[in-house]
Amino acid sequence: MFALRNLLWEKRIGINNTMVALSLAAISASFVYSPITHSTAAQERPKSSGSTPVTLEATVTGPLGKKVEPVYATVETQPVVSTGDAADDPAIWIHPEDPALSTIIGTNKQAGISVYDLSGKEIQFIKAGQINNADIRRGFKLGGEEIALVTGGNRANNTIVGYKVNPRTRLLEDVMARKVTTLQIYGTCMYRSPKTGKTHYFATSKTGNVEQWELFDNGSGKVDAKKVRAFKVGGIVEGCVADDELGHVYISEELVGLWKYNAEPDADTSRKQVDKVAGGNLVADVEGVTIAYGPNGTGYLIVSSQGNHTYVVYKREGDNEYVKTFRVSPRDGVDGSEETDGIDVFVGNLGPQFPHGVFVAHDGYNDKGNQNFKLVPLERILPVPAARADR
Ligand code: CA
Ligand code: CA
Ligand code: CA
Ligand code: CA
Repeated sequence: MFALRNLLWEKRIGINNTMVALSLAAISASFVYSPITHSTAAQERPKSSGSTPVTLEATVTGPLGKKVEPVYATVETQPVVSTGDAADDPAIWIHPEDPALSTIIGTNKQAGISVYDLSGKEIQFIKAGQINNADIRRGFKLGGEEIALVTGGNRANNTIVGYKVNPRTRLLEDVMARKVTTLQIYGTCMYRSPKTGKTHYFATSKTGNVEQWELFDNGSGKVDAKKVRAFKVGGIVEGCVADDELGHVYISEELVGLWKYNAEPDADTSRKQVDKVAGGNLVADVEGVTIAYGPNGTGYLIVSSQGNHTYVVYKREGDNEYVKTFRVSPRDGVDGSEETDGIDVFVGNLGPQFPHGVFVAHDGYNDKGNQNFKLVPLERILPVPAARADR
């Protein structure tokens, strides 16, 4: 099935652009990865790294014939400890005083959660179950202080995981008050309501169902949660992201497309389709989604189009007009990112390596070992906005 899909993609490659052709040649020459067994609706795509390598043919146009722009990562993280499909979704923590000391928090859906510095070095690994889909909000009030709250979902027991980032050590510390059990959890993301200031947690599921939980201080400096809303999207849903200013939540329905809902817990479930698989710019599975905040409600929405190893960019505002498609290609010893699950982006100064911000992508096929995360300087992808919103 994969071979057929790959062949179909090769047929779409129109070599009419020298740079793209060169990039394609570089990828073909330097990069090998493992074959994919196509997923069924009920199963997660079985992925592996490092065995039975085959050549990846890069896509240079998307499904609608739009150009795919190559960009390059400058840093990759240490590989995760687990083999096979393990790394999944990153979140970016911003150090309050020295942006160069910011970290990347990455999930290992087989074993736990890791923290990496901006050189890619792992500075913490917590063996904590099948953690997936990290998200972060700073300014969460807990025990009389404002913390950066990191959440994820534990697929081993369908619970919400929550950590604070200790700004002194940069490491994660468990802050959950108790085991909060959700639906059969697959993906997660957070939302801070601009109306109420309350912080929410969305849990998505392979059944197509979504739950929204409110997160709060239990009175003893620990995080508790209560369910405030539930609705059904359709088929498998995992990736999601909420817009804390405009009040939307975007949810990826893996085999169908990207949906936009009102993120308020008392809102109805009317929705808009931002883009789709059949006849749109996306190739299944539709996976991680993230928001690059710009000034005055502007910025960009980015989604992982896993099936053709690309990322599709839309305007954040209005009807999310299509902007462009890019891929992360290999260069200077850092391989590209393929079969990407989770992504995150931060707009703002992260020190000398990432002065305008960073885009982080899970890499399903790391050339030297287990899966990891790739870091791309943001100015290689987006026209960098002059300012960003807090989050
Ligand atoms: Ca998925
Ligand atoms: Ca994911
Ligand atoms: Ca790779
Ligand atoms: Ca590598």
